[in-house]
Amino acid sequence: MNNSVPQCVGCGYCCKKVVCAEGHRRAKQNLDPPCPYLAPQEDGTYRCGLVLEAQNEELERLISSLSIGVGCSSSLFNTYREAILRKQELRSFLLFYDSLSD
Ligand code: SF4
Ligand code: SF4
Repeated sequence: MNNSVPQCVGCGYCCKKVVCAEGHRRAKQNLDPPCPYLAPQEDGTYRCGLVLEAQNEELERLISSLSIGVGCSSSLFNTYREAILRKQELRSFLLFYDSLSD
């Protein structure tokens, strides 16, 4: 990954604001956001439901098509992403704090 590109933390902001070409393709029609394929996770982050269910060649195709692993292109003024980052920082701090009492 290019280090100058901010990391994707799965905040879901991009898919809540715009449905990508893969979403329209799967639905066989133009969709209004938020994308119905956006899949909430137990930890408060989101994943693409199409990617979660895909296997083999389709999975490889989606990873390439959606530029998964390349980073976040919607990081500016993105309060959703900032909230996930704060949560990650808090979790790291609590793990560190717990390790001190071991
Ligand atoms: S807005 Fe950025 S961090 Fe959030 S899901 Fe999209 S690419 Fe990932
Ligand atoms: S959830 Fe998947 S299909 Fe929907 S907009 Fe996001 S990347 Fe595209």
